[in-house]
Amino acid sequence: MYDIPFLDLPPIVGASGTVQLPGSKSISNRVLLLAGLAAGTTTVRGLLDSDDTRVMLDALRALGCLLGRADDGALRVGGLGGRLQVHEADLFLGNAGTAMRPLAATLAVLSTLQGGRFVLRGVPRMHERPIADLVDALRPLGCRIDDLGTPGYPPLSLQGTAGGRLALDAPIRVRGDVSSQFLTALLLALPLAAGTQDVAIEVEGELISKPYVEITLNLLARFGIAVQRQGWQRFTIPAGSAYATPGEIHVEGDASSASYFVALGAIAALGGAPLRIEGVGEGSIQGDIRFVDAAEAMGARVRRGPGWLEVHRGQWPLRPIRLDCTPIPDAAMTLAVMALFAEGTSRLDGIASWRVKETDRITAMAAELGKLGATVSAGDDFIEVTPPAGAWRAAAIHTYDDHRMAMCLSLAACHALLPGRAGDAQPVRILDPRCVAKTFPDYFEALFDVVEATAVPVIAIDGPTASGKGTLAAAVAVALGYGLLDSGALYRATGLAAVDAGLDPEIRPDDEAAVAALAARLPLRFGHGAEAGRTWFTGPRGREITDELRLESTGLLASRVSALPAVRAALHGLQLSFRRAPGLVADGRDMGTVVFPDAELKVFLTASAEQRAQRRHKQLISKGIPASIGALRADLEARDRRDSSRSVSPLKPAEDAQRLDNSGLGIDESVQQVLAWWQARRPFP
Ligand code: C5P
Repeated sequence: MYDIPFLDLPPIVGASGTVQLPGSKSISNRVLLLAGLAAGTTTVRGLLDSDDTRVMLDALRALGCLLGRADDGALRVGGLGGRLQVHEADLFLGNAGTAMRPLAATLAVLSTLQGGRFVLRGVPRMHERPIADLVDALRPLGCRIDDLGTPGYPPLSLQGTAGGRLALDAPIRVRGDVSSQFLTALLLALPLAAGTQDVAIEVEGELISKPYVEITLNLLARFGIAVQRQGWQRFTIPAGSAYATPGEIHVEGDASSASYFVALGAIAALGGAPLRIEGVGEGSIQGDIRFVDAAEAMGARVRRGPGWLEVHRGQWPLRPIRLDCTPIPDAAMTLAVMALFAEGTSRLDGIASWRVKETDRITAMAAELGKLGATVSAGDDFIEVTPPAGAWRAAAIHTYDDHRMAMCLSLAACHALLPGRAGDAQPVRILDPRCVAKTFPDYFEALFDVVEATAVPVIAIDGPTASGKGTLAAAVAVALGYGLLDSGALYRATGLAAVDAGLDPEIRPDDEAAVAALAARLPLRFGHGAEAGRTWFTGPRGREITDELRLESTGLLASRVSALPAVRAALHGLQLSFRRAPGLVADGRDMGTVVFPDAELKVFLTASAEQRAQRRHKQLISKGIPASIGALRADLEARDRRDSSRSVSPLKPAEDAQRLDNSGLGIDESVQQVLAWWQARRPFP
């Protein structure tokens, strides 16, 4: 997950490989609530782990459900069997509509029948998302629901005294034309009240987003509730209904999340290999799977099977589309971005519900597509998009704390693939990329895994030993979400491998070929995620070498092997292979001069010998290694001399390098300086 202020995407020029989708948000949160209400324990596999599911889990825990993990990592939910264990709770539900609406209905019903007081609240945007239609449906039943803020919006308080009754003789009426989530909420809550009589729900107005109601009915059936449906107007929960666990349930991959990769395949899977998407496919119960038909209509070639899709580019540029998107409101946003790649104007109708989602998506989409150069017109329930006629503009995309804005607009980075646009290639900046955590925390990682990018930016940070390059480079890489190449570590590892192979630590010129052969196939493994920063040798002399690498003696070995031209040549390709989307920060001696001469920003970092000796001294002492400043200084000056005077790739600033003497700067100041230079080189307004 990229928890940084912005993430710059380099131009995308191809896509292939396999994407594993996270679990469906809609299914995950329904399953969690159903499992929490049912009698017995439910084992849930494939559950989405995201902001929206986390608030639902927290709510269930606060309500007294027992949550645990099976050996294989599956979640085990001990259900309440329809009986409140906790009668008072204040629940924070973030910006999760799929938690707010069903919990409001459920706790209104349960507190009326069994007594209790519950408060439901969320982030400020949640308090702007209407819930009046649901409250209006519940109040006539006798539920006491108080608005704690603006009437008709959360936060809400729900309360009742034990032994209360619900007026269920007349059908419950609910509007269906603003959000289907209100009907879903009632369908999930009312089986708790259908002990002795049928409960009927009647929908007023044309029901939108029917596929989401189908998901609800489908999952209710899995938990033992057979709702009878007359058209999309009347739903009856039969008397005697009671939730029962199915034992085990598997959550499908998220079909809305799949839309970004179906679109990516339609635009960028132009080689022989398809872009494969695993987690949803044929037979999915999610409505957004129908996005695939729309993508095909625009030109995608799609093969589908149970639990998978394979996408190739077909028609190119894409065909414009005109579509009533009522059944696929979420995935329709992806169509709006695909429209940038079509020959002509596309129009999406039936999207009024966009206005009450995570943000006002019609306004947001129009603004951001416009920034890229597209012509957009929008109304209450439609949007019309014409691709840029002139140049595509480098844009910093606002994401409005809306995961889908971030994910679908990331596809704008593909514009260099349009005919005649290769010269236009620009990065796309996504502001607040962390917002994808709502439903797809690793979206960008998954994207970078399958794309081929061009003009991947490199920031080269060179300088003498102990100048603080490593620390600076690592901090800059974290701030930008870029990868990191510690090229010194490759020379250090080569030195260790040479000694492992029985070569004398002195390393003589006639060892050159042997050491180069070792360098060409270093058995290195770098740690990722929780293991980031750790390094291993694999193979016969396999071991963790994180600490050995940092020893002074290893630095000396490195400085010897690095003077051998054949060794430098052998490590060249390995270093280039670190240049991957979204970008790279590389530190060493010759990053800006030899390995990445086209680096966008080159920094030459220095500090006085005295300063560097003192820093190294502090480092060693803090690790409990005895050291003398004088000896360290003599040692690093000798190393500087060898690094600067060798015939190949001597240590020297690139002509176009920015020099930074950090003798008097703290690490934060150095990082801010480098980031300021970087921002100044980016094309964003
Ligand atoms: O930066 P570090 O101290 O880890 O580098 C160890 C040695 O590796 C340096 O003293 C230098 O001789 C060599 N090196 C190099 N070229 C690089 C990085 C390191 O020659 N790009």
